[in-house]
Amino acid sequence: MPIPAMNGVSVLVTGGAGFIGSHLVDALVERGGRVRVLDNFATGLASNLDHLDGKIEVIEGDIRDLATCQRACDGTRVVFHQAALGSVPRSVKDPATSIAVNVGGTANIFAAARDAGTARVVYASSSSVYGDSPTLPKTEGDEGKPLSPYATSKWMCEELAAVYGLSYPDLVFVGLRYFNVYGPRQRPDGPYAAVIPKFFDAYRQGQAPKIHGDGEQSRDFTYVLDAVRANLLASGAGDDACGRAYNVAGGRRITVNELAARVREASGGGHEPEHGPPRPGDVRHSLADLSASQRLLGYQPETGLDVGIGLAANAYLGR
Ligand code: NAD
Repeated sequence: MPIPAMNGVSVLVTGGAGFIGSHLVDALVERGGRVRVLDNFATGLASNLDHLDGKIEVIEGDIRDLATCQRACDGTRVVFHQAALGSVPRSVKDPATSIAVNVGGTANIFAAARDAGTARVVYASSSSVYGDSPTLPKTEGDEGKPLSPYATSKWMCEELAAVYGLSYPDLVFVGLRYFNVYGPRQRPDGPYAAVIPKFFDAYRQGQAPKIHGDGEQSRDFTYVLDAVRANLLASGAGDDACGRAYNVAGGRRITVNELAARVREASGGGHEPEHGPPRPGDVRHSLADLSASQRLLGYQPETGLDVGIGLAANAYLGR
């Protein structure tokens, strides 16, 4: 399926100053879209959008405020809803805020899209909705019980999309269950940084990376431009493909121990990783079945882990 042209199409990217959101904004601007961003810079950075100065509109505001969401959605044809507080441990520490932003904020954005007569909302869900399901690969329909407030919040986004879709048939929803997205602009700093930037940062500083648990837990890593392409495909998919959520992933899994070895090699060597206790809320294994996203969205990952780690190394090690 072709990537749709966005010439002159008005779109909103919530969380557009963030890691995935800012790459999506780049792709939309490149395709001629008229892009508005809504972000409160809780974790996103204005510098991610500096190079687009004058080419996009930026609203600094919070998705927990309905009036702000209505202003942001006004006149838009497609809303790409990326804004959320990510991270399982953050949600375990402060569930109320993660739920308020991820669920309350999403309910506001969906309602504001309806009020604005927006045609379609493509929203970020997460592989965490598979929770305690032991099945591998993870296939849409095989969800287990969520293991963290974050996972519950993303599950609730999908439930909200389903019920808004039923209640307001003129507005269609496509959910994207991202599996461990990585690449340039993913923040290496702070207590809730994701594993790949954290490992690169450790090696950059000559420290040993820390692994939670035995490191034999596995993940399916997605290069950020693959996640961007999934969004573009979802925005142009036929109506028969809408009203559900799709896996978006790299399509193969590696253990965290193997990942650490790859990052170490890409960094030119360094300390062996140190192991600490496992983290509450983390799932053991993750691997996506991509048949539905391939068949109905035309999604296929294009950047394998070797190339992706190399691109991430260039970004984090300043090469
Ligand atoms: P990110 O933290 O870089 O981006 C999130 C953006 O949302 C940030 O710019 C942040 O400032 C903004 N934001 C947060 N709270 C807000 C609020 N109350 N109002 C307005 N803006 C707010 O994270 P990301 O990795 O780019 O994640 C994007 C989306 O993808 C999120 O919905 C996340 O849950 C989801 N997701 C990411 C991954 C991953 O591996 N990165 C995996 C699964 C799902």
